Amino acid sequence: MNRYTENITDEVKQALVAVVTEARFLDRPEETACYAYDAFLEEAMPQAVVFPRTTEEVSEILKIASAHRIPVTGRGAGTSVCGAPIPLCGGLVACFSRMDKILEVNTRDRYAIVQPGVVNADLQKALAPFDFFYPPDPGSIATSTIGGNIAQNAGGPRCLKYGVTMDYILGLEAVMADGRIVRFGSRNVKDVTGYKMASLFCGSEGTLGLITEAIVKVVPRPETTKTMMVTFSDLDDTARAVSDIIGSGILPAAMELMDKFTLNAIEESADLGLDREAEGTLLIEIDGVKEACEKEMARIVDQLRANNAVHIEEAATAEEQARLWTARRSAYGVFAKLAPDIFSEDVTVPVSRVPEMVRQIKAIAEKYGIVTGVLAHAGDGNMHPMIPADRSNKEEWERVEKAFDEIFAAAADLGGTLSGEHGIGLAKTKYLPLVMNQDSVDVMAAVKKAIDPLGILNPGKFV
Ligand SMILES: Cc1cc2nc3c(=O)[nH]c(=O)nc-3n(C[C@H](O)[C@H](O)[C@H](O)COP(=O)(O)OP(=O)(O)OC[C@H]3O[C@@H](n4cnc5c(N)ncnc54)[C@H](O)[C@@H]3O)c2cc1C
Repeated sequence: MNRYTENITDEVKQALVAVVTEARFLDRPEETACYAYDAFLEEAMPQAVVFPRTTEEVSEILKIASAHRIPVTGRGAGTSVCGAPIPLCGGLVACFSRMDKILEVNTRDRYAIVQPGVVNADLQKALAPFDFFYPPDPGSIATSTIGGNIAQNAGGPRCLKYGVTMDYILGLEAVMADGRIVRFGSRNVKDVTGYKMASLFCGSEGTLGLITEAIVKVVPRPETTKTMMVTFSDLDDTARAVSDIIGSGILPAAMELMDKFTLNAIEESADLGLDREAEGTLLIEIDGVKEACEKEMARIVDQLRANNAVHIEEAATAEEQARLWTARRSAYGVFAKLAPDIFSEDVTVPVSRVPEMVRQIKAIAEKYGIVTGVLAHAGDGNMHPMIPADRSNKEEWERVEKAFDEIFAAAADLGGTLSGEHGIGLAKTKYLPLVMNQDSVDVMAAVKKAIDPLGILNPGKFV
């Protein structure tokens, strides 16, 4: 795999240490080992890890790397679930955890300027006193960074109503492979000045440049938030309720679906008083002006009843809202306890096809004799089939892989796609032909080649 001619020699090491100092340079395997992983199941050791503090340092690092053709993989918190920050070709990892400052909050002009290593939840905390928030809310909100969120174009429950990371990136500063420092976009909510280059970085997985600063759009916090948990005795009814609510013209802030297996796994672990008999559960949140929320809530309840909802529980207090969200947010961690490995996937289908996709996921899992929980940001058709399994059991793992091959094919057949938010990384490159023709892949490769001709930025990934 490694097609690079030079490694990190003593000379290169000295040059890098001169930029970042000894304290922010690691090359002993016992120190670099944890940068060989993310939350996915592959591994590849970097030769060294650097922790830049400034854009100028990033620029110097990339000048050295391109002079010596050393691969460079950016890294935020390493929470990717598709292998995106795994340094497949070795080389250097540039970890942004020391570039974690919020540089400006300007609610009058509706933006914040942040360094890439700012943790999403820390930005939310900084905005709260102004009654503003930053809508993208991945399940990893407490740990993942804005740089990683941009590079993965992360989503989350709230993205149903508010949109994904790309919709909130007004501008960014990045360092190109040869060390040039570029700035795209501006502080303006409206800006039509040439190609929307900042958007191109969204979902680029660190293959185009290293992001060193971002101007993100922030929005006022809604006056009222209402949250409800709804149970069904039939999973098909649950999925159909989702598409009926959206089809009736209501856009909740979030609409999360959990199947019986997922709900029981959560309850087993967290004892939150959830209904263990329910075949399907929806967590629905609406927000806005109080009177509008009440009207929307009544319309949603009509749709839920029409789809045979068994129990509708509205959270009466902020604590109850938090309890319902704790249930949803703990799902990933709970699955991780069920088996040595967890395969968390991320297919998306048009919302009207959610019921069919849920049926197909269940049927495919049954065909291969594997356990699957279904967890979904269902309102935008984004589904996470979760398979706890043991990768060291070769026979079981082959069945898991076959099941995923069929799940992706089914999603593509339903007009869906390979990822709604987790990205492609190492996990899904092989499935690209299901949703893209070769000419389209070639055009992406041409963009990459024009920007990073030596191919040193996160090589071996989807492009
Ligand atoms: C429990 C759990 C729940 C999750 N829930 C969600 C969810 O709801 N929605 C969602 O979208 N994802 C979710 N994820 C996946 C993951 O958290 C996101 O992809 C997140 O955006 C990754 O951010 P990070 O800081 O950890 O980046 P990393 O994992 O470190 O890196 C991700 C990618 O970004 C690149 N990168 C990082 N920093 C930079 C930079 N400064 N410049 C250029 N490239 C850079 C890396 O090279 C890599 O390709 C979840 C993961 C976990 C473990």
